[in-house]
Order: sequence, then structure tokens, then C-alpha cells
Amino acid sequence: MDFALTAEQEAFRTRVRGLADSVFAPRAAKWDAAEEYPWDNVKDLVGAGLMGLTIPREYGGPARPVLDVVLAVEEVARACGVTGRIVVEGNLGVVGALSAYGADAQKRRYFPWVLEHGEKPAIAISEPAAGSAATDLETRAEEVPDGFRLNGHKCWITGAGTSRLYLVFARFGGRPGAEGIGGVLVERDTPGFTIGRREFMMGLRGIPEGELHFRDCVVPRAGLLVEPGDGFKKLMRAYNGQRLGAATVALGLAQGAYEHALRHATSRRQFGRPIADFQGIRWKLADMAVTLDAARLLIHRAAARAGHGFPDALEAAKAKTFAAEMAQAVTSQALQIHGAAGYGRSLPLERMARDARMFAIGGGTVEMMRNLIADHVLPTRADWRRG
Ligand SMILES: Cc1cc2nc3c(=O)[nH]c(=O)nc-3n(C[C@H](O)[C@H](O)[C@H](O)COP(=O)(O)OP(=O)(O)OC[C@H]3O[C@@H](n4cnc5c(N)ncnc54)[C@H](O)[C@@H]3O)c2cc1C
Repeated sequence: MDFALTAEQEAFRTRVRGLADSVFAPRAAKWDAAEEYPWDNVKDLVGAGLMGLTIPREYGGPARPVLDVVLAVEEVARACGVTGRIVVEGNLGVVGALSAYGADAQKRRYFPWVLEHGEKPAIAISEPAAGSAATDLETRAEEVPDGFRLNGHKCWITGAGTSRLYLVFARFGGRPGAEGIGGVLVERDTPGFTIGRREFMMGLRGIPEGELHFRDCVVPRAGLLVEPGDGFKKLMRAYNGQRLGAATVALGLAQGAYEHALRHATSRRQFGRPIADFQGIRWKLADMAVTLDAARLLIHRAAARAGHGFPDALEAAKAKTFAAEMAQAVTSQALQIHGAAGYGRSLPLERMARDARMFAIGGGTVEMMRNLIADHVLPTRADWRRG
């Protein structure tokens, strides 16, 4: 087993790290304070070829493997969590679903939006009464002569309003359960589709999370990405990519906080010596180094095995669970090592801790990830709907 990256991957990682340190890190506090989408960063991501990395060559992309994406995501998130999430959604999730399941016309229309304009698509699953129980979703898609009529309401959608393309999970023909769910691609200016209230969040404030409303919104037949039947399973396979990407943003945030803590521990003096001389601080840094490495290994294993496809569900769930909880612990301890300065807004530690808190919730909670893992390790699957 070879754990080394190739020379090309190392060079790619170094190039992304340079961009993140010189361009994204100095701007990160600005998007957080203004709660504004980082369009300037998006232009730089496009310029550096970091949007649409996985897009096949016949559609103008470089067809890079998932491992290259996670290398880029970690480096970007190390400097700016919000921009790291944009790299995830500009390469995995909906982009992966389009590559695997999209019709040629859909790819020709939407891939240039990502490659040339850096417009990351949004994914719309959650509804007010269907969060963890995603298969309870109620947004309806009815077949009409010119396509599908959508009616329903989505919430917590990342990129609501800033994204031009939305992959909407909807229930077709009133069929219950997962088998009734398919996915349609909806463009932002489609009549009957409106962006609702924005929810202001604890962290990752540069990306809007908001509601989507569909009122007799007719999507042309050409917008159908996956049919009901096995559509939900297909969409969730693609979503494993997004999940692994989320784990990697958590890793990047933690790595960034850890590097700040290392520097501070060696420069800050108390009791006449650097605080890094105290065993209590040394052990914190050692634990951070161990858990960062463990998360990175889980992520790289899942990414390497995914190749150019989707990560395995179990491997992505293990990586996300561990990385999300590791990132909460590491960002919190890194803040602690900075004392009062860590709690202040002049340094990025408090932002990193707020940003890291999200990954135990969004994209499937750590409890739901554990349910998925338990279903694999135990002989029986749990049925939460059973009375
Ligand atoms: C920042 C952010 C961005 C998001 N972006 C998107 C997006 O782009 N698109 C999208 O569709 N959704 C998005 N979401 C929604 C996210 O996917 C949901 O928040 C998540 O699936 C949990 O649903 P819920 O919030 O309704 O919590 P609930 O499902 O109500 O869960 C509440 C609590 O109960 C626990 N719980 C529920 N069921 C079980 C069970 N069977 N066993 C054990 N514990 C259980 C949960 O783990 C949680 O702790 C986002 C959320 C956040 C916070």
C-alpha cells in the first residue's frame, strides 16, 4: 500500500495552498462579517481551474479524480471554509450526478456554467418536515404535457439565490417512499420558482442558506435528471461525493486552526517560557496531530477508492463522522491555546470554530451517519418508522 501522493499531486496541492494563503486567507474575515457570497474568490477559483475539476474532457473539463478534488478542498478550506464549500459543490455533488446521469444536452448546457462562470449548482432535498427523514419529502412533480409541474417548499438550501441551477428532489405521481422520488434540474429564472427567506447561520456566513418555493413551476421534460424508482438511490450515490467533500472542508478548517495554534504556542510566552513548553499544551497539539491525520487517512482512502466515480457510502459516512467531530474538537482547542486572543474577532480562530460546527449537521447529521454505519456493521438494518 502506497500512501504517497504523486509528484503531480504534490505540485497541485502546493499551487492551491499558495493561492489559498495569498488570496483567500486575507479575505476570509470579510465574507464572514458582511455575510456576502465571495464572488471575487469564485473568479480566482475559475482562473486557477478549480471549478469543474471532475468534468469529463469531452465537456471541456480536466477529468481529475476525486482525490485531486479533496486535496484542493483541504487547502482552500484551511484558509476559508466558505470558499472550500464552493470548491466541493463546484466539483462533486450535483456536478458528479450530472456527469453520471445527465443527458448530453444537460451536460452541454450546465457544465460551462461551472467551468467558465464558477456557478456551483445547489442541491435541494430538505423540507420543513423532512430533514433526516429525507424520504418523507412532499414537494410534488406532476407530469403535464410540456414537462413536470412542481409544487412545494425547500429549506436550508446552500446557495439559495446565488446558484443559477438547482437539483430538486421531488415526489412523482404521489408515489410514497424513496421509490417515488426523482430529481429535476430547475433554473433560477423558471416561472413559479422563487427564492424565499434567508436563514442567518452561526458559521459559514458567506454562503446563503435559504428557502425555495415552487408554485405551479413547470420544468421542461429536458430538466429531468433521474426518474423515480431507483432515482433516489442514484442521487444518494452522487451525494456521497458531497459528503466526502464536507468532511474535507472540516479537515481543512481544523488543519488551519492547528497551524495557527502551533505558531502561537511557540511564540506566546508565559511564566518566562513559550507556552509550548507546558505539557498541557504539548499534549493538546499532539492529539490534534493524531486526529487530523486519522481524518485525512479516512478521507483519502474513500477518495482514492472512488477514482473518477462516487465514494462508497460507508467510507464517506465514516470519514464525515470522524472529520466533523475532530474539527469541532481541534478548532475549539486551537482557540483555547490562543487564550483571550482566540476568543476575539481579530484572529480567525473563533470563525473557524463557528464554521466547523456545521459539519455534524449539514449533509446528514453525525447521528444519521452512525445509523448508516451501524446498518453495515450489524446483521440487521434499523427501521426508524416501525411503531
Ligand atoms: C449550513 C447548512 C447547510 C445545509 N445545506 C443543505 C442543502 O444545500 N440542501 C439540503 O437539502 N439540505 C441542506 N441542509 C439541511 C441538512 O441536510 C439537514 O439539516 C439535516 O439533514 C438534518 O435535518 P434537520 O435539520 O431537519 O434535523 P432533524 O432531522 O429534525 O434532526 C434533529 C436531531 O435529531 C437527530 N435524529 C433524527 N433522526 C434520528 C435517528 N433516526 N436516529 C438518531 N438521531 C436522529 C438528528 O441527528 C438531529 O440531531 C443544510 C443544513 C445546514 C445546517
